[in-house]
Amino acid sequence: MKQTIEAFLDLVKQRNGHEPEFLQAVEEVAETVLPYIVKHDIYYGKNILLRMVEPERLISFRVSWVDDDGEIQVNRGYRVQMNSSIGPYKGGLRFHPTVNASILKFLAFEQVFKNALTTLPMGGGKGGSDFDPKGKSDNEIMRFCHAFMSELFRYIGHNTDVPAGDIGVGTREIGFLFGMYKKLTNEFTGVLTGKGMSWGGSLIRPEATGYGNVYFAQKMLETKGDNFKGKTVVISGSGNVAQYAAEKALHLGGKIVTLSDSSGYIYDANGIDEEKLAFVMELKNIKRGRISEYVDTYPDAEYFEGKTPWEVKCHVALPCATQNELDENDAKLLLKNGCICVSEGANMPSTKEAIAAFHKAKILFAPGKASNAGGVATSGLEMTQNSLRFKWSREEVDSKLKEIMNDIHASCLEYGKDEDGYIDYVKGANIAGFVKVADAMLAQGIV
Ligand code: NDP
Repeated sequence: MKQTIEAFLDLVKQRNGHEPEFLQAVEEVAETVLPYIVKHDIYYGKNILLRMVEPERLISFRVSWVDDDGEIQVNRGYRVQMNSSIGPYKGGLRFHPTVNASILKFLAFEQVFKNALTTLPMGGGKGGSDFDPKGKSDNEIMRFCHAFMSELFRYIGHNTDVPAGDIGVGTREIGFLFGMYKKLTNEFTGVLTGKGMSWGGSLIRPEATGYGNVYFAQKMLETKGDNFKGKTVVISGSGNVAQYAAEKALHLGGKIVTLSDSSGYIYDANGIDEEKLAFVMELKNIKRGRISEYVDTYPDAEYFEGKTPWEVKCHVALPCATQNELDENDAKLLLKNGCICVSEGANMPSTKEAIAAFHKAKILFAPGKASNAGGVATSGLEMTQNSLRFKWSREEVDSKLKEIMNDIHASCLEYGKDEDGYIDYVKGANIAGFVKVADAMLAQGIV
């Protein structure tokens, strides 16, 4: 088996050798899915995984725009349309200076499995730009978004490809992108999700990724007869996913002690309560400030510049910032400090070595493609509401979200249980996602 996996990865490396994040994501899937393929004749010998690692289409384009000083700026835009066998491409747009083809291909590849797990009819895609929204005025953001969409609009559509937000792309950016799409096509359709509430957005969509992650963690804790009550929770990030993961964990009785951004983390030993969380939401979403400013208002808390929160003692860790933000040393520190559950809100925040350490210690560990699928699932619900020209209540959407997270958990149990009873959620999520997409690909023939 080891040889089969190595031979497969060698082939993928030959084509994508310069794309480390993409190779990392493929390796994790290959190690769990190839042994399954070998044991199942319907998938064996058909190069299905090889077909899945090749994007159906990768679009790269120039985005030129004019900044507030009248200077012409040039960025690069992308859309990776990875797999459309179970529905239109679906996945977020990321605006961050680190964006490149490798990062977007890893995200699009993960998205294919994640979307399949939601049980909704959505294929996988991802896109974005190396544009850095930090420090830009609202007008600059608008001009950039309009320029970006003036090219992207050719390749997307409510039945073709439906982008959403991701790092650096929230409701403000989705608004500007939607406005330009509507102008160019003269159509008001559900071509983007994460829209504002008065123009086609779904209730609970802003909360969905963070809430869903905590619902998933709660299901994992339940397998041990446990729950969030009285648990100390460490969270990284302070953006959309981190904020709502904190809110839901707080509602379920957890004590949140950290939040972070790319500059450092804050530790509040008294816990970040509702009032403090409201302060963070205003600081990050409206004032667009830095997490270090938390300690100016709450001087009992401490700020650690240039550090990540994994050194803080906790029961539950929710990495909600970015890829590869939690390495082997961090994992060992978390384990040493008594952490029993890690549920990924971000995409691929734990390195391969960190995941191996969690598995070795047999703690509860959920990969993002399962535990953060609540965001795209609720995007799927937004698409359904747009097609129905109807709006569900907060309670309706929240209960559907909870149901979907429970179903994803059940799929992980179905395919992820080891002989000794330990649940390998990585294996479970990868195989469950693979089976659904592979069955559709087989039914549709070699296209
Ligand atoms: P936001 O832009 O709202 O927030 C991102 C947060 O992560 C910020 O606090 C940011 O800090 C921090 N961050 C970004 N890059 C780094 C870095 N290199 N090192 C340390 N911290 C960093 O994004 P989201 O909350 O939407 O996304 C967070 C993660 O969740 C991403 O991995 C995303 O792909 C994933 N995700 C998001 C979904 C969604 O619905 N939004 C759905 C599923 C997954 P700073 O301000 O300093 O950059």
